Amino acid sequence: MPTCRTRGLVLKVTAHGESDKIVTFYSPDIGRVTAIAKGAKRSRKRFVNKLEEFTLLTITYRPSRNGGLLFLSEAALENPFLSLRNMHRRYVAATLACELIMCFTSEHDPDAEIFALLLWQLDAVNRGIPLLQVTALFHLRLLGASGYQPALDHCTSCGRRVDAGRSFALQPANGSLVCNRCNSHLHHSGFRLSIQTVKFLQTAQQLDLRHLERLQMPRQSARETLQVLYRYSRHLLQRDIHSWKFINREASTVG
Ligand SMILES: [Zn+2]
Repeated sequence: MPTCRTRGLVLKVTAHGESDKIVTFYSPDIGRVTAIAKGAKRSRKRFVNKLEEFTLLTITYRPSRNGGLLFLSEAALENPFLSLRNMHRRYVAATLACELIMCFTSEHDPDAEIFALLLWQLDAVNRGIPLLQVTALFHLRLLGASGYQPALDHCTSCGRRVDAGRSFALQPANGSLVCNRCNSHLHHSGFRLSIQTVKFLQTAQQLDLRHLERLQMPRQSARETLQVLYRYSRHLLQRDIHSWKFINREASTVG
């Protein structure tokens, strides 16, 4: 069978037997795929320091015949994004991004926008851009790219547009806004979004990815966003997002 080549971001690596590794990638050409790297734990030349979480690689592989594991023959390192594995806070942000990709994508279903988005998140966090902001914006855009764009224009109950004087909440059941007058339990629900945050998110939904990190989103807005998108996503997925509690811990710290 002929070999193929593609770029891939490593989402997950597990040991397999004494010498192999199982690696899950997200590729712009073939989507989320899992490959076996035979002899990866022994081979110093082909795979050393490459098959690590969050690295950007060019991989050479043989497709499987039955839609199962690809056979990884070689990997060339394009960017190790080293600080994501060496610095705890950055590791937490990168891990959450990869978990969200695992949750919101299907195998063998490529989407170049989702690849670009993950690459943006890992690169921005690796360069030290404030990670709560980057992670909140990544999560928002990933929902949009996956067909679950939150509706942030107006209150879905009374139709009032977002403007000064009212705060809003995002309803986790359908990802749309409701104003505080329509939602009398707003202040107890924990899903509150200030007008400032809603405005930031509206802008973030429109911006070209290259300009996204220029958006100077205050930490408080990033916190609110992470909270509401977590609840909305948990509802969509009908399961917990395990690494969210670590970013929530980061969000709760002062600074
Ligand atoms: Zn309303």
